[in-house]
Amino acid sequence: MNITIIGAGPAGCYAGYLLAKTGHTVAIYENHPQIGTPIQCTGLLTSDFDQFQLPMDSFLVNTFKEIEVYSPNKSLKIAQKEYLVCRKRFDNFFGDLAKKEGAAVFVNHSFVRKEGKSLVINDTVNKKEKRITPDIVIAADGPLSPTAKAYGLYHPQRENYFGIQATVQGTFNPHSFQTYFGVEVCPELFAWIVPESSTTARVGIAMRKNSRAYFDKFMKQHHFTAVEMQAGTIPVYHPQQVLRKENCYLLGDAAGFVKATTLGGLVPGLKQAEILVDCINNNKDYQRKVKPLAKQLKLHLAMRRIFDKFSDRDWDRLVSYVAQPKIQAVFEKYTRDNPVPLVTNALMKEPRFLYFVKHLI
Ligand SMILES: Cc1cc2nc3c(=O)[nH]c(=O)nc-3n(C[C@H](O)[C@H](O)[C@H](O)COP(=O)(O)OP(=O)(O)OC[C@H]3O[C@@H](n4cnc5c(N)ncnc54)[C@H](O)[C@@H]3O)c2cc1C
Repeated sequence: MNITIIGAGPAGCYAGYLLAKTGHTVAIYENHPQIGTPIQCTGLLTSDFDQFQLPMDSFLVNTFKEIEVYSPNKSLKIAQKEYLVCRKRFDNFFGDLAKKEGAAVFVNHSFVRKEGKSLVINDTVNKKEKRITPDIVIAADGPLSPTAKAYGLYHPQRENYFGIQATVQGTFNPHSFQTYFGVEVCPELFAWIVPESSTTARVGIAMRKNSRAYFDKFMKQHHFTAVEMQAGTIPVYHPQQVLRKENCYLLGDAAGFVKATTLGGLVPGLKQAEILVDCINNNKDYQRKVKPLAKQLKLHLAMRRIFDKFSDRDWDRLVSYVAQPKIQAVFEKYTRDNPVPLVTNALMKEPRFLYFVKHLI
């Protein structure tokens, strides 16, 4: 089949690679002049990334042994293997995989609109529009997905966060990264300090509104000066988001497939790409086949709704519950990309977690 993918991010390129490998004619259109730039991501991956069995040497920046969690008056360390990647090299790795399998990648080509069954693509260098009529369209064009909007697929109640991040110099433990929770630090999510090395870190915050004010406050408190700044939109998963209409399928951030507790979308987007390719190749129902992954994202969303109502005392209480050895062991066994067993096991071992469910009402 003739398949067009809009967006050469990791989700689009991974799907393009798998589709080209299975015999399809694949064209990927990217509106930027290069794959992977501008960088708008911290680049943290849980060890669930191992399941893709991909060589990491071209894009791996650092590997962590633990996560440090800070609430206003408590802290804990969770042993977990996590990866930090360079998004420019990460995205190009997937772009190269797709190209090697024969996919055509067109940079400086922007999806503009849909006209009947055709897509209008603008070659932004030569200022020429072309019309294409593929058998299948994959909208992998990020959180604001113009393609999803053109197909009338973009759920009107979708929400977005806005993340701001800086690269800073300092002295860091390169084996762990830090997360800061609390109403004063970041009332809607958390702030992070993620070391690239013992001297450089990525520091950021994400919120629906006011990211900049809280980011500036956090930077000041930690005496950081930005060497380089990045910012970007991150979608919140919406459980009623329809993923297919006519011949168009949504993928990755375009589908809102991001963990609402941490705003990590890389591992979910890659898992979703594998499911989508299986559905296209074997004529399966995408919305149905993606359900197990969606279930994990729904749980993240429920937790997000609880955390949105947290007081500083709730954050302290949560950290003290998790710091118990029996619960810490659960948090060290399951990653956040696999929250269903994590939450189920934690609840079985510590029923006091149910105290927080009142915030869902
Ligand atoms: C500050 C910040 C920190 C983050 N940190 C993490 C993290 O640590 N770990 C994690 O897992 N996730 C993180 N994320 C989220 C992560 O970046 C996204 O989930 C991920 O990039 C989604 O990949 P994707 O391929 O679906 O979309 P994208 O990477 O957004 O790729 C979409 C592509 O489509 C292109 N495009 C858009 N419109 C058009 C058009 N009209 N025509 C052609 N091309 C178009 C874009 O240029 C882009 O290249 C972070 C996000 C932000 C903003």
